[in-house]
Amino acid sequence: MNETGPIFGAMLREFDRAARILKLDPGIWRILTYPKRQIVVSCPVLMDNGEIEVFRGYRVQYNITLGPAKGGIRYHPDVSLDEVTALAAWMTWKCAVAHVPFGGGKGGIVCDPTRMSAREIEALTRRYVAEIIDAIGPEKDVPAPDVNTNDQVMAWVMDTYSMHVGHTETAVVTGKPIEMGGSLGRREATGRGVMIVTREAAKHLGVNIKGATVAVQGFGNVGSVSAELLAAIGAKIVAVTDWKGGVINQAGLDVAKLLEYAATHKTVEGFPGGEPLDNEGLWGLDVDVLIPAALENQITMENAPKIRAKIIVEGANGPTTPDANNHLHDRGVFVVPDILANSGGVTASYFEWVQDRYGYFWTEREVNERLEAKMREAFRAVSATASKFAVDMRTAAYIVAIHRVATVTKIRGMCRGRSSWVMRSARS
Ligand code: NAD
Repeated sequence: MNETGPIFGAMLREFDRAARILKLDPGIWRILTYPKRQIVVSCPVLMDNGEIEVFRGYRVQYNITLGPAKGGIRYHPDVSLDEVTALAAWMTWKCAVAHVPFGGGKGGIVCDPTRMSAREIEALTRRYVAEIIDAIGPEKDVPAPDVNTNDQVMAWVMDTYSMHVGHTETAVVTGKPIEMGGSLGRREATGRGVMIVTREAAKHLGVNIKGATVAVQGFGNVGSVSAELLAAIGAKIVAVTDWKGGVINQAGLDVAKLLEYAATHKTVEGFPGGEPLDNEGLWGLDVDVLIPAALENQITMENAPKIRAKIIVEGANGPTTPDANNHLHDRGVFVVPDILANSGGVTASYFEWVQDRYGYFWTEREVNERLEAKMREAFRAVSATASKFAVDMRTAAYIVAIHRVATVTKIRGMCRGRSSWVMRSARS
């Protein structure tokens, strides 16, 4: 039996729909619905109060056909093997859509970092890395930041790994501080990618991005940078919410001031440049673009019927349930799916990994220009596939991704009637 839980089940339903349209070979289909490796570890940590606590950690390498596994590490009380497996699968499709030579992985630790000291988080990170050390490395599996982890956590991951192998190995993680092999532009890359695909989607639908109204859920790394860069190209950010509350201003929020306020208050709630707004109020706003950039399963059949936005750009991973996605598609809402919309992060991670292995670093401008080209290429591939098969953008993104992974799986040898297929390919 396959590993299934509700989140992985949601991933499988999206996968199955695309695989059916693609008429995927049943054997390849079977391969691609199983995680390659699921690692579960227990991480004992001496806490500041003198007690020992044991935290559960996971690392899943879903598929490594295209290259080393790639994916973030998440620290959150709700982390589960189901969630990490689904996120690792989504990373597989995301890397394939982004057209970077990586497989998909993900990690997580069940913990509440908001209740832990920096020393406790460092000790937990180092123990977790020690427990999974044989499975990671520049050629095997390259972690990155995710919810509640950052460049400092990545520095601890890199340092612990380097101590064990006996030399400095920068390419074992991405999203590192610039001073130790991080890439310029990486911190902003996911949000920059969201901005680029939002602009491309608007162009595709004939919506003028200048003056287009935008509402954002989540004001962390992805949400805040998306808001800032969209404002910079002339969009009007009218509403933002986070874990605590939100703020709305129909005339447009001052994003620079909101960033300053959120940095001090750790929330956008109470920002004086607008009126209060709760998370539920966000969904029904009459805006051009809605950007969920917080957690998964936020757009459900409870709130999808209220949505009035023309375009939804999924900054977060898995923010829309499959039922809600179908509902939005039927109503003609243009949804740019997570595996395309937030692939700017993994694309810049690929750039960072390349620079680390090369030992030669690019300017921020070079990074941003390459990111722009990759995101536009990915948007074009997915929108062309959506037109070709007359499907929504999510199904199209899966078709692009599955086709790329399936093709390499076959060429590498996993193919029924292999010799004739190889010979045919060789002739063409
Ligand atoms: P983050 O921790 O920096 O920010 C998360 C934001 O979501 C915060 O503003 C938080 O207040 C808000 N939030 C949390 N719970 C909420 C709730 N119940 N309702 C409303 N808001 C809530 O995380 P991030 O790095 O910005 O990641 C956000 C999402 O984007 C995640 O799904 C992550 O997997 C995905 N993602 C991140 C990256 C990246 O490079 N950081 C790349 C790809 C995808």
